[in-house]
Amino acid sequence: LASRTAHPEPSVIEVGSGKNVARFGGGHVGMIAGPCAIESAERLDKIAGAIKKAGATVLRGGAYKPRTSPYAFQGMGEDGLKLLREIGDKHGLPVVTEAIDPRHVELVAEWADMIQLGARNMQNFVLLTEVGKTQKPVLMKRGMAATVKDLLMSAEYVLSQGNPNVVLCERGVKGFDNACRNMYDVCAIPQTHELSHLPIIVDPSHATGRPEMIPACALAGVAAGADGVHIEVHNCPEDALSDGPQALLPEQYAELAQQIRKVAEAVGKTI
Ligand code: PEP
Ligand code: MN
Repeated sequence: LASRTAHPEPSVIEVGSGKNVARFGGGHVGMIAGPCAIESAERLDKIAGAIKKAGATVLRGGAYKPRTSPYAFQGMGEDGLKLLREIGDKHGLPVVTEAIDPRHVELVAEWADMIQLGARNMQNFVLLTEVGKTQKPVLMKRGMAATVKDLLMSAEYVLSQGNPNVVLCERGVKGFDNACRNMYDVCAIPQTHELSHLPIIVDPSHATGRPEMIPACALAGVAAGADGVHIEVHNCPEDALSDGPQALLPEQYAELAQQIRKVAEAVGKTI
């Protein structure tokens, strides 16, 4: 179902409803931005206002965080989902948030416009199947040791349940060089487009883990044909509860968004 041979035209995935619809694929570049985790109403509101002004089309924020350490901040849970919905609506932004547990899928689907499946869960087939039973758009991140074909097989789990709304995401794979958090694979973009009609976006925040490298990698992704850009933005990265060191400041995001728009136009796409 994900294959391009069966479906030669690129799919356009729409997120949100009414006049606040974000589009991914088929000439549309979706702009997802926001903090790694939902931390408080005040912070999320500030960040959402700034990214909307900069031209973002979807607000992100994790309510359930898949942390490497069980002692690290695990997210605000259901309270976070409600905050995300409220603040997204206030700023006219559809919202995406991660589901990490099959038992939470229904709840996440109730509050969010798009369900994220994280890199750590790309092959959690029980979770994929649950998400496939909803009709919510899905943001499926590439596992850190997964090939593009593995990613497409995971998409197949969602599609085969009757949910056709899958957006893929390149977020870096484990490499041998610890200069960056992960190894950013720009080649995954044309490779995905060759094999599949599904949109693929880039996440240079998790791919690099280094704010100074995010703009170059974001622009390279769009130049290579990415159908969207996912960036973590925080107004005080130094006391963020997760992924602070890789967050862009709102003003840095605003500058990058302008450059993304220019590159998108140069390759014949619109935001
Ligand atoms: C995230 O988006 O905050 C996240 C945990 O991403 P990934 O699954 O790509 O590590
Ligand atoms: Mn993060």
